[in-house]
Order: sequence, then C-alpha cells, then structure tokens
Amino acid sequence: MTYQLNEKLKKIDPYKVAMEDCRIRLDANESFILPEEELKHRLMAALGDVPLNRYPDDSYGELRKAYGGYCNVDPDLIVAGSGSDELISLLIGAFLKSDDKLLLANPDFSMYPVFASTYERHTCFIARDSEGNLNTAEVIDKIRKEKVTALLFSNPSSAFSTVMEAEKVMEIVDNTDALVIVDEAYMDFSDQSVLQEAASRDNLIVLRTCSKALGCAGIRLGFAHSSSRLINVINALRPPYNLNILTETAGRVLLSEPGYIEGAIAKILENRAELYEGLKSLEAAPAIKRIYPTATNYICIETDHAERIREGLKARSILVRSLGTILRVTVGTGEENRQVIEGIKAVLSEIEGMDK
Ligand SMILES: *Cc1c(COP(=O)(O)O)cnc(C)c1O
Repeated sequence: MTYQLNEKLKKIDPYKVAMEDCRIRLDANESFILPEEELKHRLMAALGDVPLNRYPDDSYGELRKAYGGYCNVDPDLIVAGSGSDELISLLIGAFLKSDDKLLLANPDFSMYPVFASTYERHTCFIARDSEGNLNTAEVIDKIRKEKVTALLFSNPSSAFSTVMEAEKVMEIVDNTDALVIVDEAYMDFSDQSVLQEAASRDNLIVLRTCSKALGCAGIRLGFAHSSSRLINVINALRPPYNLNILTETAGRVLLSEPGYIEGAIAKILENRAELYEGLKSLEAAPAIKRIYPTATNYICIETDHAERIREGLKARSILVRSLGTILRVTVGTGEENRQVIEGIKAVLSEIEGMDK
C-alpha cells in the first residue's frame, strides 16, 4: 500500500506571490518608508540581545502593551499573529465548523477564499456597490436567509480603496447573531475604525496589521482585538509560540515609537495626494473611466484596459496590480509616483494608437 494524495490535494497549487524583479514595486501596498538611522540602531541593539536559544514569551505581554498603547485598546484583549494572514487562516479554519457558512464581500482580499478553500469551508458572497460599500440591510438579510455563521470583509476595502462608515459596520454587528470579522489592514490611513467597539461585543473581531501603514510587512505581525470571551478562544486555538522572538522584539521597539509611525503615515498621505493629482489628470483619457477616492495607501483606477496597462508598466520595470477592471497602484516615493504616472501615460498613448 502506498499513500495517495486525495483528489483535492492532487489539484492544489501554491498561492502565487508576484516576486518579479522590477525596478519599481507598487503592487503590494507596502510602505516605501524605512526606519531612520537612530531607530534602526535601537532595533538592531534590541535584536542583538534576543536569547535565541529560548522559546519566546508565549503571552508577549510587552508587545501587547505597546500595541494597546498605540491604538488605545486594552492589551489583555489583543492576540498577535505572524501577519494578520495567520489570524485570518486561524479564524476561518478553527472558528468555523465544516458545515458552517462564511459570507465574504465580492470583490475583496484574495486570501479569504484561498483560506476558505484550504479548510473546505462553505462560502457565499455579497456584492459591493460601485463605491465599494456593502448595503447593510442586504448583508443582515443574507446572513439570516443563508444561515451564515461568520461574515469577513476588509474596511477600507482592499479592492476599491474606499472606506465604509463605522456606523454602518456597527449596524451590521448589532443586528445579527453571526460573527463579524472586520479586517482593518488599512485603517491607520482612515478614521472609521470599529476597534473601540470590539471589547464590548461578543460577535466582533477586528484585525489589524503592521504590514501597511506601519511599514513592517517583512516582520510579519498582525493583531486581533475583541471581547475577552472571543480573545480567550483565539488564544486557545493559536499554537503556542506562534510569534517568533525576532518579530516580537522588532514589533515592540517600533510600536513604542508612535511619533515615528505618525510621521511615516503623514509622509505617505502627502505622497498619496501627489499621486492622486497625477492620476486624476489621466481621467481625461478615453481608456480611463474613473479614479476612485482613496482611504488607503493605494489608488484604484477603473479601466477596461487594466491588464494591458499592467503589462505595459511591467515592460518598463514598474509593478502594479490589475484586478478585473481595476488597476491598483500603491503610493511610492515622489520619484516612483512620477515614473508610474509617466508610464501609464505612455501605455495609454500606445493603446490609443493601436485602437485607431
Ligand atoms: C495586506 C493585507 C493583509 C495581510 O496582512 P499581513 O499582516 O501582512 O498578513 C490582510 N488583509 C488585507 C485586506 C490586506 O490588504
């Protein structure tokens, strides 16, 4: 007898992360800012003192205190993960039973259905409107009719860069028995967080990450915040030592520098305004339908030529994302922003030339 992979495993492919070697990378919504010398030295010193031979503090109390301080929540009501991706995977895999149904927004963050498929969770979808919003009454109705156990969506929307009002999100939370998981990966750029409501709700989990506004995608650090009842469950489900000691240490140092984080966010918003102005000037081109307003560190462009423009930019060694009819450009340095705008202009004139 030999072991046989089951049919599902025979067909499964690794999730492809774009790692193309481009001069300018504006495809993954990372921050373009690195810590300055002084903070970098402090980071290095802290990392140098780490006892690598020992298991880390499994409760990472100091890190939770630093994050709680940064976003003004009770450190006892925080769980950390290796990126919010680990927490999303854990919530889908361990919170939901095999016959439970997960409601996702469409479109949304591409990893949600990937994790749902890994754990073979049933999913159903609710469409976002053209502004990226969810109709609250429709969501509540769908949850009831389809007997949904959990709703998961990003706010600001990872697909449109727009933000839904906190009041609307709470309307859903307070009018359903389903678990509502709000992925606020980009909320540091906006002001519609429901983080402050989570401690007092037994059906709301808010996810945050250090990968975007905080400029630390490389250390893999994300957080979940909820009521003590749900936080206890997440703690019981996560593997012990799920956070490695280097991540814990780096996160603790960075998060105890709110001035640094605020400065970085302000700089990103400044560059976003420049990129937005530049892209807005392209709206006159026939191929461009609209430039979405943005509550994040990226800008979404609606065009029927999204994939063509992405390829044209890639030929110029500039990486952006295309998602259906949306071209998504991450805010970069001033120079990167100028080059991507010039690049799009050049590709648009190629397209117009070809279509004549
Ligand atoms: C980037 C992103 C994440 C992933 O965050 P990590 O902490 O890097 O795993 C989660 N959700 C959304 C919507 C994102 O855009």
